[in-house]
Amino acid sequence: MVRKIGILTSGGDAPGMNAAIRAVTRTALRNGIEVIGVHDGYRGLLEGTFEKLERGSVSNILDRGGTVLGSARLPEFKEDEIQNACVRNMSREGIDALVVVGGDGSYRGALALTKKGINCIGLPGTIDNDIPGTDFTIGFETALNTCVECVDKLRDTSSSHQRCAIVEVMGNHCGDLALYTAISCGAEMVISPETGYDELEVLERLRYLSEAVHKRHALVIISEKITDVSALAKKVSLNTSFSGRATVLGHIQRGGSPVPRDRMLASRMGEKAVDLLMEGIGGHCVGIIDNKITSMPIEEALERPRSSRKRLYRLFDRLV
Ligand code: ADP
Repeated sequence: MVRKIGILTSGGDAPGMNAAIRAVTRTALRNGIEVIGVHDGYRGLLEGTFEKLERGSVSNILDRGGTVLGSARLPEFKEDEIQNACVRNMSREGIDALVVVGGDGSYRGALALTKKGINCIGLPGTIDNDIPGTDFTIGFETALNTCVECVDKLRDTSSSHQRCAIVEVMGNHCGDLALYTAISCGAEMVISPETGYDELEVLERLRYLSEAVHKRHALVIISEKITDVSALAKKVSLNTSFSGRATVLGHIQRGGSPVPRDRMLASRMGEKAVDLLMEGIGGHCVGIIDNKITSMPIEEALERPRSSRKRLYRLFDRLV
């Protein structure tokens, strides 16, 4: 029987993590289970920075971005000895199960602890939408909203001049933020890990748009870590009739109050995590697949290929 659950947020923060903390806390308390908030991810397990959470501890956090528990990276957590020290700290505190909100790195940590006898459940928290075992992650929708708001504004000013706005969005090897932003904003081009990148092709297409189609402006959405967007903008200015301007949206995409869809997702997933732990299940991660809250073993999720985005890329091509 589970008597005390710990909860931590790990890896990159994402809007909606607080909604998950609140949902886990309140669902557990309703079932007579105590809740311990662990500060700064796995680092808090090692350093024993625990805080007892009551119903009121998670009041007024649902609408707040970031994570009230803090997040951190602890590379040493991969080491067996460090994991054992964390398990000892949890046992001393009486924590017999743990909810981990984070990405696939955090999931691996959760799996390691489960194998050492502390049942853990992973919830997908990241703006990148790059976590296996779910169609959507907590935070993606809010980040998309931020991207769309920013890009709409850039489009207004670009169309007043003959500009090509090149906007770099986050994604961490996953093109979803770029693809969804590009479709939502009616971009002329999307460049992502899935599309691949050929600079000459990009310049040729922009030349065609400016010289043959006589477009007054062009919008290119590109995922991070693909190319230096400032250098690309300069080449656009030199090789096409557009004046190229690069914008890197950066960490602004991580912030802000979570949109209702992320609050709903986090609330549903948080409830599910506690239900699983009460059933004695550990080493699973929660997801939303075809709009149903699901769970599967973390090992299975990590091996699953990502569902294909081909149809959405085709949609983008048809709408350009
Ligand atoms: P994310 O969870 O967003 O993928 P990271 O990859 O940085 O972010 O992982 C977050 C934390 O999870 C790391 O700092 C580390 O403490 C832990 N972690 C990552 N990979 C592993 C692993 N293979 N085994 C155990 N713990 C891990």
